[in-house]
Amino acid sequence: MSDPAIKTKPRQIRVLPEVVINQIAAGEVVDRPASVVRELVDNSIDAGATEIAIYLEEGGSSLIRVVDNGSGMARDDAILAFERHATSKISESEDLNNLQTLGFRGEALPSIASVSQLVLKTRNIENPVGTQVQIWGGKIKNVRSVASAAGTDIEVGRLFFNTPARRKFLRQPATEEQRVKLWVQHAALPFPGVRYRLFADRREILNLPPASLIDRSRGIIQGSSLEFSYEEGVIELFGLIGHPATASGSADSLVLIVNGRIVKDKLLSRAIREGYDSTLKPTEIPSAVVSLTIEPSEVDVNVHPQKSEVRFRHPQMVFQTVKQAVNSVVMRFSAPFVAAQTFPFRPKETDLFRYSQTLLPTKGCESGYQPVAQALGALGVKESDPTFDLGHGSAVSVQNDFKFSRLKFLAQTLGCYLLCEHAEKFYVVDMHAAHERYNFNLVRNRFRTREISSQQLLLPFSIELSPSLFANCVEHLEVFRRYGFEVEPFGESTIVVRSVPSCFKDGDLRHLILDVASVPLEGVADGRLQEKIDHIAARIACHASIRSGRSMEPQEVYALFDALDTTEFSAACPHGRPVVVSFSRSEVEQWFGRDR
Ligand code: ADP
Ligand code: MG
Repeated sequence: MSDPAIKTKPRQIRVLPEVVINQIAAGEVVDRPASVVRELVDNSIDAGATEIAIYLEEGGSSLIRVVDNGSGMARDDAILAFERHATSKISESEDLNNLQTLGFRGEALPSIASVSQLVLKTRNIENPVGTQVQIWGGKIKNVRSVASAAGTDIEVGRLFFNTPARRKFLRQPATEEQRVKLWVQHAALPFPGVRYRLFADRREILNLPPASLIDRSRGIIQGSSLEFSYEEGVIELFGLIGHPATASGSADSLVLIVNGRIVKDKLLSRAIREGYDSTLKPTEIPSAVVSLTIEPSEVDVNVHPQKSEVRFRHPQMVFQTVKQAVNSVVMRFSAPFVAAQTFPFRPKETDLFRYSQTLLPTKGCESGYQPVAQALGALGVKESDPTFDLGHGSAVSVQNDFKFSRLKFLAQTLGCYLLCEHAEKFYVVDMHAAHERYNFNLVRNRFRTREISSQQLLLPFSIELSPSLFANCVEHLEVFRRYGFEVEPFGESTIVVRSVPSCFKDGDLRHLILDVASVPLEGVADGRLQEKIDHIAARIACHASIRSGRSMEPQEVYALFDALDTTEFSAACPHGRPVVVSFSRSEVEQWFGRDR
């Protein structure tokens, strides 16, 4: 119900006071401690800092402080910095097409100051004394000269103290700290020369000394990864691509950097995903750090108040280049996965304890478990896979000379696993996953080159389908034919199958037909064709592959190994599970406490 008094009140238009304008802008620019940190640290980087220390108290809700050793500001600038649209970084609209700095909107400081109790201390190297500016809720309280180190020290106290509705949205301190920590880990990547330290309630929770993007990325991608660099036209790419099995349900380990700026970009995420081709489950997000450098005029960063989204002038070109680059790296993951990393990624500490108890007895066996750090070390969780320790090369120079055919087959166990050895290492191959990967590639590649051969069934096979499956089949007879299925409708709900893809040998034909018929094909003309083809190929591959439990003759095993050496992505099955894991002598020795 509306209040008639309000309705009849004459409307008055007025220009809002500056403080209110800044509070409105603050709603877009800063929503939580992590975004305040982001703005302040970006400013430190723009000021040329090489040391940045961040302090949080109570997750940033009582204090966020950023101290840098950058250029600092002279007294006049220190005051002007809090004016809306006051910036030293651009001066005319042309500059927007050629941004060299992280900031340019001149919004952050006034916005943050309008919703906090802020103290700025800064000294420009040329000045003997520094300046302190104190601002509460956007109002300057006082300005004075103070002794201070060269650089800038900003304390943002009691964030959202004057906007209680927003303050309520702050999460538990631990949650806010985590967000800040994650952001700092990512933001440090493009600035190898800068040291970052993060303290929470005076405890240091992050210390990142200067290190290359690749080295820092290894702390983000937990598991095997390959380094790459790639150049095409105006685009330069480099970074670290995680093994398909390092993918997870969260986007925390997918870092996208455009011209030194951390972004969340749908186009780039999708390009990377597609670069992983058939190796990810639909819900998985890959672990990768991809840094893209492009002419500033090719990208618009002024599309989002937090500058975390970008728009490319030639999106299609960027998409194809990134996809292609990532794909060329993923294709090289054919070496075995190190054993430790086949256990659930980022194991919880408790899981590690359990694991360390069962597999890693301590010497003397008094306490029964090892400290987590030691267990982590033993499991190789923190380290990147030595198999992939390939020096600083581009994708092209990556060597990955693992060959299945060199393995000596020892035995089959638990129905599905082939135990093997080679050169002081012990290998376990999942025979179903291996065969599935091989068949999948075969079906898919032949589909692409229109060479799937089919074999005629001795007796045509007829199967009754539900109306929707029947309709799907009948409408797409041509697609089925390209997969090697010769299928004809018979009556209202039955189809007759005369031939099937020849890789399909002794599986359950009925299941295969039902499975393939149920892949929805209505959108085949749209851009998602590839996905559907993969879908069908994966099903054919699965049905055509050796069942677990069947015993394999050594010659069959060696034939499978030879075949695997001829195929791409042989390290993971079409569902992204590893095909082979390896254990070094020292790992095996650790199981038995023989490592020293
Ligand atoms: P922007 O970064 O978009 O220019 P800000 O509001 O973040 O806008 O900052 C305003 C100005 O204050 C900057 O342009 C810069 O000149 C100055 N400034 C802010 N932080 C620092 C800092 N840590 N060191 C030196 N100068 C700074
Ligand atoms: Mg800024």
